[in-house]
Amino acid sequence: MTQNTVEKTSVTLLGLGAMGTALARTWLAAGHPLTVWNRTPGRAMPLAAEGANIAGSAAEAVAANTLVVVCLLDDASVEDALAGTDLADRDLVNLTTGTPAQARARATWARERGARYLDGGIMAVPPMIGVQEAGGYVFYSGSRELFERHRETLAVPAGTVYVGQDAGFAALHDVALLSAMYGMFAGAAHAFALIRKEDIDPTSLAPLLADWLVAMAPAVHRTAAQLRSGDYTRGVVSSLAMQVAGTPAFLSTAEQQGVSTELLSPYFELMRRRLDGGGGEEDLTGVIDLLVR
Ligand code: NDP
Repeated sequence: MTQNTVEKTSVTLLGLGAMGTALARTWLAAGHPLTVWNRTPGRAMPLAAEGANIAGSAAEAVAANTLVVVCLLDDASVEDALAGTDLADRDLVNLTTGTPAQARARATWARERGARYLDGGIMAVPPMIGVQEAGGYVFYSGSRELFERHRETLAVPAGTVYVGQDAGFAALHDVALLSAMYGMFAGAAHAFALIRKEDIDPTSLAPLLADWLVAMAPAVHRTAAQLRSGDYTRGVVSSLAMQVAGTPAFLSTAEQQGVSTELLSPYFELMRRRLDGGGGEEDLTGVIDLLVR
């Protein structure tokens, strides 16, 4: 064991699925002593050869180190895995995807068992873990003290973004970003559908599409500024009235191309409702108010 290894925080990791295994490998590669446990023991074995200590049970793994990272399928599997473990005085970092409500309940649950709690939402896929230039990161929320204490260790597999003391905020940020991503994918699906029957190579549309989405993405900053000020007409570039006037062309084009408008129409309907409510001079920001119940 090198001097370097001795100085690094020891980590316990529960869960060696695709994500857990990627996390484990980066901590091992960075010289962190690592104890792992997985429900199906076979998945842990390859990591033994890479230097991990394999615990015989979750309880044994939790007992091995103060810092306990959990990366399991869902909240129910966290409940299963941690049942019968002694969490007193543990620093529990839960990277399992869940809802904000589950994270808040899990924080209370952990506190009741004497543990400090940090929740995480992973904004990366396994191949991005440990590859700094890939740009992956993890949202963290919950105990700020815990985050600061383990910041360096947590930064080994991916970047870290702390979003607040409310344990539910990491999950909320995670879901917010992924929801926006699905909106983007929905738009791209519609775009590809429009050219599907034409003599247009999808691989020639793809770079145009990607560049266009990147060029349009900064509009979210204007949206945020308008939401913060409450003035949705501030800095408007393309008014809602103008944009609604353009929607028949989109719907007709879809019809002419034999493409369903089921992805596009709901958004256009919200734009129309906001216009009818008097938002013609605004940007698209007013749609957000229609969504919030
Ligand atoms: P996998 O399906 O590859 O692994 C799931 C893990 O959970 C396995 O270790 C599995 O154990 C364990 N598990 C499932 N049920 C139980 C249970 N009842 N008790 C104990 N252990 C259980 O998932 P990933 O590793 O890919 O994902 C882990 C977490 O990371 C998820 O919450 C996921 O949403 C999140 N994530 C994943 C991303 C990805 O691209 N993979 C991206 C971002 C977040 P066993 O081996 O015994 O089945």
